[in-house]
Amino acid sequence: MSHLMNTYARLPVAFTHGEGAWLWDSNGKRYLDALAGIAVNTLGHAHPKFTAALNTQIGRLIHVSNIYQVREQEQLADKLCAISGMQEVFLCNSGCEANEAAIKLARMFGHNKGIDTPNIIVMEKAFHGRTLATLSATGSRKVQAGFEPLVKGFVRVPFDDLDAIRQVAAHNHDVVAVLVEPIQGEGGIRTLDIHYLEQLRQICDQQGWLLMLDEVQCGLGRTGKWFAHQHTGILPDVMTLAKGLGSGVPVGACLAAGKAAGTFKPGNHGSTFGGNPLASTAALTTLEIMEQDNLLSHATAIGDFLLQGFRERFNNATGVVSIRGQGLIIGIELNKPCGDLVQRALAHGLLINVTADTVIRLLPPLVLTQAEAQQVLDIVCPLVTDFLSQGD
Ligand SMILES: *Cc1c(COP(=O)(O)O)cnc(C)c1O
Repeated sequence: MSHLMNTYARLPVAFTHGEGAWLWDSNGKRYLDALAGIAVNTLGHAHPKFTAALNTQIGRLIHVSNIYQVREQEQLADKLCAISGMQEVFLCNSGCEANEAAIKLARMFGHNKGIDTPNIIVMEKAFHGRTLATLSATGSRKVQAGFEPLVKGFVRVPFDDLDAIRQVAAHNHDVVAVLVEPIQGEGGIRTLDIHYLEQLRQICDQQGWLLMLDEVQCGLGRTGKWFAHQHTGILPDVMTLAKGLGSGVPVGACLAAGKAAGTFKPGNHGSTFGGNPLASTAALTTLEIMEQDNLLSHATAIGDFLLQGFRERFNNATGVVSIRGQGLIIGIELNKPCGDLVQRALAHGLLINVTADTVIRLLPPLVLTQAEAQQVLDIVCPLVTDFLSQGD
C-alpha cells in the first residue's frame, strides 16, 4: 500500500524516462504518448534544447522572491504579451491558481465600479480547477460534491448559448464578467459555434463586463494558433494559461488587457513561487522552441491528419456520436461509457484518456510526427471498432 492520499485511481504503470512522444516504463516497455501529461508536455519528453536551457538556469538560479525584480519573469511577460496582444501578466504555478487570479480580478473590477456582490457567468460542463473558488465555477457535480458550501457569485448558463447570456444580462445587474473555455477540455472537447466568441465579445462590451477566457488546456499552440481564441478576431480582457506553458515545469499565468489591466495593486494578490527564475525560463524557452521549430503549423498539419483519419474511418459509424477538436486537441464521443479503452490502449503501448465518460481524448505533444500520428490511428481505430461491436 502506498502512503499517497487516495486522490487518483492510477493505472498500473510507472514511467522511468522518455524521448519525444515516447515513454518507457519500469519493465522497459515503450509507449506512444498521445496525452502529454494532459496537454502539459508541449515539447514532448527530454527535448534537447529545453533540457539544456533548464540545466543552465538551474546552475545559475532557481528561486529568489517576488520581493525582488525577476528578469526571467519580465522577459516571459514581454513574450506572452507579444504573442497574445494582452498588456500585463500575473505568474503563478497552475491552472486553478491562474483562474483564482482571474476570479479575484473580476471581483475587484466589480467592487471598483460599485458592485458589492459581483457575479461571474460560467458554463455548464466547464472545468476551471479544484480549489474552492474554481470548483465552484466548474460545471460538474462530481467535482463539487462533498465540498459545499460552494463559493457564491457564479451564475451558470448552457455552453454555446448566447440567448441564455442575454437573459442573464436583462435580469442580473451584478454580473461583472463571463468565464469560458474556447474549447471545453474536461467537459468533452466541446467546441463553440465560430461566431460565439465574437458575439460574446460584443455583449461584454455593451454590458461593461470582462470577457475571461480559460485557455489552460486549449491554449499554447494546441489548436495551431498560440491561443484558441485567435481563430476568431477578438481579444479577451483576461486570459488564463497553465498546462502546456512550461512543458512540464509547473507555471501558470493570468493575463489582462483593456479595462481589466491595472486592476491589481501591490498587496492585492501574490504567490511565493509564482514566476520564479526556473519556471519563467521553462515557459520562455517553451515559447521560443515552439517558434524555432514551427510547432504551430506542425500542430495544424498533424491535427488535420489525425482528424481526417478518424473521420474517414468512423464516417457514419454506429456508436460514434461525433469527432471534435482543432489541431492537437481531439475528442471522439461514443454512445456509451468507454473508460475501458484507456487500459486497452495501454496494453497496446499507447497513452490516451477518456473524459466525460464517453469521450476519447487525445492531447499529444506538439512534436508528434506524422508517422507517429499514423501509429495513433492504427492503434485507436481498431480498438474503437472492437469496443463498439461488443455488447454491454
Ligand atoms: C486542467 C485545467 C484547469 C486546472 O489546472 P490545474 O493546473 O490542474 O489547477 C483549469 N482549467 C482548464 C480548462 C483545465 O483544463
